[in-house]
Amino acid sequence: MATPLTAGRLLAILKNEGVKTAEYPGWTTRERDAATGKTFGPVHMVLNHHTAGSNSLATVAKNGVAGLPAPLAHIHLAKSGVATMCSAGRANHAGLMAKNAYDSFLNEKTTHPTPLKASGTVDGNDLSYGIETENLGNGTDVYTRAQYDAWVRINAALCREYDWSAESCGDHKETSVEGKIDPKGPVEGYGTRGRFTYSGKQFRADIAERLKHPASWSPSTSKPPTTPKPPSTPKPPTTDERLTALEKRVTALEKR
Ligand SMILES: [Zn+2]
Repeated sequence: MATPLTAGRLLAILKNEGVKTAEYPGWTTRERDAATGKTFGPVHMVLNHHTAGSNSLATVAKNGVAGLPAPLAHIHLAKSGVATMCSAGRANHAGLMAKNAYDSFLNEKTTHPTPLKASGTVDGNDLSYGIETENLGNGTDVYTRAQYDAWVRINAALCREYDWSAESCGDHKETSVEGKIDPKGPVEGYGTRGRFTYSGKQFRADIAERLKHPASWSPSTSKPPTTPKPPSTPKPPTTDERLTALEKRVTALEKR
């Protein structure tokens, strides 16, 4: 039974995973359970988003948008890598998930099919943790190194807590029947990797790698040392070179 974590436990597992955290005032009780008559849980996956804006914290945590009351995620992740706690209850982030896509995360399949509405739908807000990562979502705005590192840590922390594999972590675009495109865009770098384009597959690989290590682990950011080249031994002079040198010496002697 994957019971939702208490607010205190949710915060604790992030800290334990090395995530820098902040707490939005009122976050421990702000949720979309009572107002909707629905309950949060059991939870079966993590759903990742981009905010498609900037300075979105108050929107995600408290204000919401027209027709969609806050909280809009459990965690808001800033470009600085700071994760701000927004809710520990039901949050408005996932919308409807296609059943075929959801099942692939529920069952931790290593491939995730294109979400098909015809397969049926489930209410993703009932069953997933949502992370809103600050990014314009225009395909050029960059996820910072600190942000991506924290993002991997947050997903890994939840997997570690529930004994899920990285295949329980999905993108909004991988489940949505509402044409969502998030997250997308370039990432500044991660570990020894330089700039790359965000993909759910790579993200899950990075979470899986992290789960092989203790929560205190940090990926190495230095390139592995390259084997130094052996010092080049000077080649013995060719016959021609020896003769040329000899001629020079003779010429020099003749000039004396
Ligand atoms: Zn989204």
